[in-house]
Amino acid sequence: MLLRPRLVVSRAALLGSAACLASGLASGFAAAQTPASPATVQAPKQSAAAAPAAAVPGTTPGATSAATLQTPAPGDAAAHIPGASPADYKPWGFQLAGRDKDVVPGNDFFGYANGTYVRDLVIPSDRNSWGAFNMLAELSRVRVQQILTELAAHPVAQPATIEEKLGTFYAAFMDEKTVEAKGAAPLKPGLDAIRAVEDRKQLAALMAQAQFGFQSSLFGLSIEPDAKDPTKYSVMVSQGGIGLPDRDYYLQAKFAEKKKAYQAYVAQMLGLAGWPDADHAASDIVAFETAIAKISWARDAMRDPDKTYNPMSVDALVKAAPQFDWRTWLDTAGVGSAKELVLTTKSAVLAEARLAGATDLATLRAWLAFHLVDDAADDLSSPFVNASFAFHGKTIGGSPELEVRWKRAVEATSGAMGMAIGKVYVARFFPPDEKATMENLVAKLKDAFHNRLEHNTWMSASTKAEALRKLDNQAIQIGYPNKWRDYGSLVVRPDDAFGNAERAIAFEWRFWLGHLGKKVDRDEWDMTPQTVNAYNNPPFDEVVFPAAILQPPFFNKDADPAINFGAIGGVIGHEMTHSFDDEGRKFDRLGRLHDWWTKADAKAFGEKAAKLGAQYDQFSPVPGMHVNGKLTMGENIADQGGLTLALDAYHAWLGGKQAPVLDGLTGDQRVFLGWAQVWRMKLRPDAVKMRLVVDPHSPPEARVNYVMRNIDGWYKAWDVNPGDKLYLAPKDRVQIW
Ligand SMILES: [Zn+2]
Repeated sequence: MLLRPRLVVSRAALLGSAACLASGLASGFAAAQTPASPATVQAPKQSAAAAPAAAVPGTTPGATSAATLQTPAPGDAAAHIPGASPADYKPWGFQLAGRDKDVVPGNDFFGYANGTYVRDLVIPSDRNSWGAFNMLAELSRVRVQQILTELAAHPVAQPATIEEKLGTFYAAFMDEKTVEAKGAAPLKPGLDAIRAVEDRKQLAALMAQAQFGFQSSLFGLSIEPDAKDPTKYSVMVSQGGIGLPDRDYYLQAKFAEKKKAYQAYVAQMLGLAGWPDADHAASDIVAFETAIAKISWARDAMRDPDKTYNPMSVDALVKAAPQFDWRTWLDTAGVGSAKELVLTTKSAVLAEARLAGATDLATLRAWLAFHLVDDAADDLSSPFVNASFAFHGKTIGGSPELEVRWKRAVEATSGAMGMAIGKVYVARFFPPDEKATMENLVAKLKDAFHNRLEHNTWMSASTKAEALRKLDNQAIQIGYPNKWRDYGSLVVRPDDAFGNAERAIAFEWRFWLGHLGKKVDRDEWDMTPQTVNAYNNPPFDEVVFPAAILQPPFFNKDADPAINFGAIGGVIGHEMTHSFDDEGRKFDRLGRLHDWWTKADAKAFGEKAAKLGAQYDQFSPVPGMHVNGKLTMGENIADQGGLTLALDAYHAWLGGKQAPVLDGLTGDQRVFLGWAQVWRMKLRPDAVKMRLVVDPHSPPEARVNYVMRNIDGWYKAWDVNPGDKLYLAPKDRVQIW
């Protein structure tokens, strides 16, 4: 999440309860600099750039030379990003040349719809994945760069207005000369503070500084709406402490080389920071983090909202795990007044406190030092930036090259003041009529869902009635939030990129501290308007569609309606369905974690979900690794519901009329092509492996093939029969919603 870069252990991020459409697609190296402490989905450290020319129009035509993307002139560069404008999808919204007509749709629909496009697609050298989604995200980034470049053109010594602060923040990051001249100096106060830690109380106090800058904590701390009473905020505490993307990287043989590279990287960073005996310290740190990994919860286990809701008084926590100085930690972070906390990964938090208590201070100081350097690297001089990229971007993420500075500057500024950028972005790039068009589409999808729920055959009358009430109550947010944030107290300085970043972290935390004790503000968004994504927030019973997603290939004003139903209609349906996936279904119409299902209905749901999960478990996009059906359960249910609703909504829109045939393709066929086109994407092998472990979304091929094979309408539209590879007998198809 760009908006809350340091608060990544939010309940939403941890549980995926704010389920989104896709992970890590738009994130750049800078924004993806995930702190050590949180056990969250660590987005791939990657970025975007242009790709060399290719044969298929709109994939990577010559119009998108690297030069175009790296130095866009304000006002015109946006038009040159392929795949992000209606002109790339002429004449009716689907790039026919991207198909591979040698592939039988019933054998591999992804290959049929996207085969030529994906084969010819060249992943830019500073990315680990590339595709239609990324291109739109890149358009957004170029537009933000235009905004920031303009604002940075008028430097002021003491920025006061939000425009001045944005321009100054961006310019300070871009001021490579000053950043290089400072070298490792900005780290000194932080490293001095770490060296000064002589007892457990000082250790806890310093870990609380993670909320206010680049220090790290073993535990995640966040302020979130309480799952059982979403009108009030709770203080959440979560497991943390590891620097690799997931516990699997420490514990599984297939990641042994990555772990080895991590230890070398830890030593390298400590060496750059001047920490004594770096090799020995690195070995201790990795051993310590391996012990943390062993007691940490697996990602799929963290998806159960019941298991992750563990209220505990501070007194009880202190008693249960006295090895960590909780009171000092909470007081210093500013939440000392909280009498009760909610522990998400409770057993891991307690075990980590005991582990920390049994670990010598020298190791803990070295752990703090490494993570300080690692988290701050992108705001430091080139030795730090390059080392960080070589490990996170290249070794882990698979990207060959570091992205250019302006891209990282955009990510850094977006991470610090994303909502301020959003205000300008919306005024410039989001015409009011697009909001109205979207409202219209959303209403159609909601009608389709309502209709499906009314005709549901496996739920009892009481559960069904409550489900309908929940759907009717679902709030829809489109484009941008109802109110904008005030950045008045954020101090930005022209010559201090490092300090600006730290002050932005502190500003963000104080923003949330200000919410504590107040009624929950339902106008807060978890994504900025310029983000190409969408999400469902169960405690608010709402779905949110930021402005930037309302563009091709998702929404194309020039496209045939069937394409838009399949693409943005499928996305709307996906987000709506999240309210009824295996996590979302546990929240009632008031957003409370509260069981409103009969036992029999819950059992029926569980059986269907397990059957769907078993299907996805089979898919292996790289040798030796499979999709985790449990981790991806919510997203798979949402995909399946989304596309089903899109087809229903299209039929309702046709109102019994016959759809025209375009280029030999029927209306129903075009709905499926519209969805498939959104997932035109290619990933580097390391990125595939990482996502299989950390990403709650299935790989692109599965988001097409495994969704469609469960939808009866797909068999009819494409004449899929027994013998076709994706064919499932009707009894084996899973239709939950
Ligand atoms: Zn989703």
